[in-house]
Amino acid sequence: MSREDTGEARSLLLNRMSWQEVRQRKEEGMEIVLVPVGSTEQHGPNGTFGVDSGRAEGFVQRLAERLYPRALAVPTVAYGISPHHMNFPGTITLQPETFLRVLEDITDSMYQHGFRRFFYANGHGGNRAALTLLMGKLKANYPDVRAAWASFTSVAGDVVQENVESEVHGHACEGEMSQAMYLAPWSVKHDRQPGKVRTEALQARRKGINEASTFDEITKNGALGDASRASWDLGEKIIETGLDRVVEYLEEF
Ligand SMILES: [Zn+2]
Repeated sequence: MSREDTGEARSLLLNRMSWQEVRQRKEEGMEIVLVPVGSTEQHGPNGTFGVDSGRAEGFVQRLAERLYPRALAVPTVAYGISPHHMNFPGTITLQPETFLRVLEDITDSMYQHGFRRFFYANGHGGNRAALTLLMGKLKANYPDVRAAWASFTSVAGDVVQENVESEVHGHACEGEMSQAMYLAPWSVKHDRQPGKVRTEALQARRKGINEASTFDEITKNGALGDASRASWDLGEKIIETGLDRVVEYLEEF
């Protein structure tokens, strides 16, 4: 029987609970709201549009299990900020303002139900700036709320750096696709290919200058790094390290 079919999953995921169960669990100490945040964007020839949301969801489910009975996972925010990927067909992007409002509304809804601790687990680089803005807004508008966000790739950044050899990586590369193999294997394609990176497009970035660009200007096939080197083992190493560190942080949260 898969975890999905057991009563245990029902008591960790909001989508599997009744309101009576939420009330009951809250009385028993469920206090941290976990929000998985992803995107619906291209991952070159190496992965589907569900890579980021699938990773975020898988990470948060494991996190909720590790923090049981303190945490509740709400449904995944499956759309993110991806205007730079719009030249690849299929990508869906929210405007930054929309994204921010969605997260504020999720937070405010759960605030109205009495929750005061929020952790946002991010699977998409394009969401980072808005998540930082969200923290500022929450701190200003909800003084009694404790909130934090993290990209789980960054939490285990040292493991990624030690194991990923490609100079330019970070999207649809061996690091990301390894995580996807571990967390959301359905989102990974079998014939994975190296990114067709245009290194000249990255010159300004190397000098610390942020030039407006679309992702197809940086890589022809939508990927960086070399996802043919991706492995389940590397995914396990990155994700389990990230989980350990986030759990340690949230134990004091
Ligand atoms: Zn991604």
